Amino acid sequence: MSEAKPKIILRTEGFPDQRSIKTYVDKAEGYTAVRKVLGGLSREQVIEEVKQSGLRGRGGAGFLTGLKWSFVPKDMPGPKYLICNNDESEPGTFKDRYICTVNPHQIIEGMIIAAYAIGANKGYIYTRWEFQEEIGYLETAIKEAYEAGFLGKNLFGSGFDFELDHYSGAGAYICGEETGLISSLEGKKGQPKVKPPFPAVSGYLGRPTIVNNTETLANVPWIINHGAKAFRQWGTEKSPGTKLFSISGALNKPGVYEVPLGYPFASLLNDEGGGMQAGRSLKALIPGGASAPVLTPTECEGLTMDYEAMAQRGTMLGSGAVMIIDDRQSIAELLKVTIEFFAHESCGQCTPCREGTGWLNNIMDGILDRSAKPDNIERLRTVSRNMGGKTICALSDACAMPVMAFVQKFSDELQAYLAAGSGSHSK
Ligand code: SF4
Repeated sequence: MSEAKPKIILRTEGFPDQRSIKTYVDKAEGYTAVRKVLGGLSREQVIEEVKQSGLRGRGGAGFLTGLKWSFVPKDMPGPKYLICNNDESEPGTFKDRYICTVNPHQIIEGMIIAAYAIGANKGYIYTRWEFQEEIGYLETAIKEAYEAGFLGKNLFGSGFDFELDHYSGAGAYICGEETGLISSLEGKKGQPKVKPPFPAVSGYLGRPTIVNNTETLANVPWIINHGAKAFRQWGTEKSPGTKLFSISGALNKPGVYEVPLGYPFASLLNDEGGGMQAGRSLKALIPGGASAPVLTPTECEGLTMDYEAMAQRGTMLGSGAVMIIDDRQSIAELLKVTIEFFAHESCGQCTPCREGTGWLNNIMDGILDRSAKPDNIERLRTVSRNMGGKTICALSDACAMPVMAFVQKFSDELQAYLAAGSGSHSK
């Protein structure tokens, strides 16, 4: 059981017809966990097993999944909902779409189990519009599951019903935030809402709703089949299990890799990623998507890929989007595209976010065309300091945190960029 490179999620990867229900059933214990659950486990037992596993949300926040499920009021009559957050919009992240490509049935099986645990009879997979191929894979998988009798009424003779639909968003970063996603699913503008109330109590259509990330849900069948203890044989005490990392940059083998949490960054870079391309060297690492504060090569020494190690270095594991920045990339240009992205995606409800991201963007324009004054670089930090912790959702912080880290750690390069004449843009 304790292979060095376990596969919990990508179990059908590389098999012929890897996405089909037949491959999932024949090669990956497909739909055996849901039979086990509906064959005799109580809702409380399912939640307890997931709690014991220590499974943390894989979408970015890392919240404990079983604990989140337990927030749904047990005895409240009326409908409850389960939503798979497949919006995956953090720049640098492409692991959920890979699960849809390789093993979509494990998402569906995880959803049926999660729905049973929280008492929901209706579920949605919410995917961003741009993922047209993956939407096709999911719709095919849902159809296959209905045809096999794994979705719909009276599943496996248990009396439990679960209907599942796919819904495509219009493509907005903020719809990856759960209340923004719910607003979009309700047919409204995809804007986040003030919490509380939390969706577990009042979510989709005002009813108790759990929103879980795609990878999170895909872990559930394995945990049910093999148990929390087996799950904990990988990873660290506070970050058990495996994690999918999407690695991008000037590497020989960029891609999506499943490794145990706590895996050394150096191994991920050199073994899975095939090392830096010839003539390139590591200048910086963004370990968890665009909103994660940047690390220098010195900070990457001895770094392991888990929630605790990242927090100790003042950054985040996020969604597992590992962005390798090499020596030919310009920090000024990288910072500009990062800020421009958040300024574009701000929904505009909160002044610090709407105005702050806009100011940062304007300052960066001045730095890029070298019309800014040297103290404008420090102004990036002072504006950012006033954007954090004051808004409805985390987008404002998600922009402010990386800006402060870039200015703190690469101030010399930004100053040199500003002072230099034209011709120093990255190639
Ligand atoms: Fe909208 Fe930004 Fe406020 Fe989030 S923080 S609700 S994106 S304005």
